[in-house]
Amino acid sequence: MKVIKIGGGCLKDGQAANAIIELIAKRGKGDVFVLSAFYGVTNILIAGIEKALESETNIALIINGLRTHHNHIIKILIQEDTPKKQLSRQLGDVYKKLERYYYGINFTREATPRMQDMIATFGERISAIILSKTLVTRGIDSSFVLPEDLGIISDGKFMDASAIMDKTRQNLGVWMAANMGPKKILFIPGFYGVSEKGDITTFGRGGSDYSAAVVAVAAGASVLEIWKDTEGFMTADPDNIPHCKLIPKLTYEEAAELSYTGAGILHPRTVEPVRCAGINIAIKNTYNPDAKGSLITPDVVTTPTVVKSVSYTSDVAVLKIYASGVGARYGILSQITKSLAMAGINIKSVVTSQTCISLLLSRGDIEKGYKSIEEIKPSPYRKSAVVTDVALVSIVGEGLHKNRGIAAKCFTAVSDANVNIEMISFGTSNAALYFLVREESLDRTIQALHSIFFDG
Ligand code: ASP
Ligand code: MG
Repeated sequence: MKVIKIGGGCLKDGQAANAIIELIAKRGKGDVFVLSAFYGVTNILIAGIEKALESETNIALIINGLRTHHNHIIKILIQEDTPKKQLSRQLGDVYKKLERYYYGINFTREATPRMQDMIATFGERISAIILSKTLVTRGIDSSFVLPEDLGIISDGKFMDASAIMDKTRQNLGVWMAANMGPKKILFIPGFYGVSEKGDITTFGRGGSDYSAAVVAVAAGASVLEIWKDTEGFMTADPDNIPHCKLIPKLTYEEAAELSYTGAGILHPRTVEPVRCAGINIAIKNTYNPDAKGSLITPDVVTTPTVVKSVSYTSDVAVLKIYASGVGARYGILSQITKSLAMAGINIKSVVTSQTCISLLLSRGDIEKGYKSIEEIKPSPYRKSAVVTDVALVSIVGEGLHKNRGIAAKCFTAVSDANVNIEMISFGTSNAALYFLVREESLDRTIQALHSIFFDG
């Protein structure tokens, strides 16, 4: 049995969903499909929270908007009157429930994390109902089951939950044995689980990849396939390097590193559960389903250049904290990181020298981060500064550190392109080398690196 994840990018509109339905009908018998919401729906649901807080009259607009959005898709998927009416009734109940949550927020004037997470899951609940009903209408044995009924157990952390694997495995084992069959197509809404106390908790934005990985491990899948509207992991971003190539094989480590720097193929946490179970992840292009795509496995496949991909993200900024003797004083880093944690800010990376601590944050968090450390009293540092016009570049390949000359080759290429390196992080991962450059020199940097490692 395979577990297959279908992302929102494959569910852009009715036509796209119809193409996916045909693919599922042809290839998915006996498999489990973990779904995202239809494209853009989670954003609409989350934006609705603010609107519901603003005014009660907005709630009907949000619900009608969602209904219309999904009805456009259903119109293309199902032509027959009776199933269409049944589906509309079934979804009517779902919209009613969602409406009640929005009203709850409006009346209490408070959007608690519990409510926010509950509301955010409705996109996945709806897509699972629509897809399974469409298949049933086409005469295929299909159904869906909600994570709370299946027993995908989470640690209860709102908006950033993790699965509790042993309990989830137990629950899925029992459920699958009783309900799954060789011809059946089962849908599970991705993105969330349920805590032992019964709280619905999401795995963070984009978390349905992680859900699929959890299900794959818990259900003992032969493979985890991620169906996407792209070929797979590439040697660079095709927007920068149009002639970049597909990477046929990657290790878990390489895939995780590439996900962190924003290749956008996989959610960074997907690798966590499957790595322990040794299940392979196959990235499959739905436009070309027979193509090989990228395969992520435990085996190391070293290419002649060792480096597999050049990647970057512009979603970074540096918070610099100057203090004398940073490396010789205890407690300073903990005061700073505690204050950032209290403000709900994630630290991407830390580099320290004797006089300066540099914290890498998401660009959207930098102002808030700056303010939060300013408030520490008494201030443990002398001066702080924010640098935003930077980008984080990485070269990724397992064995990077063991092979002589790769860093030299990388930095020589960057220097020959007239680019100054602002900060380097090397040695924390076995599969990546990271450095910061000014954003205006990003294109030059990527081109120089791709050319030295892949065009030779
Ligand atoms: N629908 C959720 C989101 O947009 C989860 C996902 O698609 O992976 O974040
Ligand atoms: Mg996604």
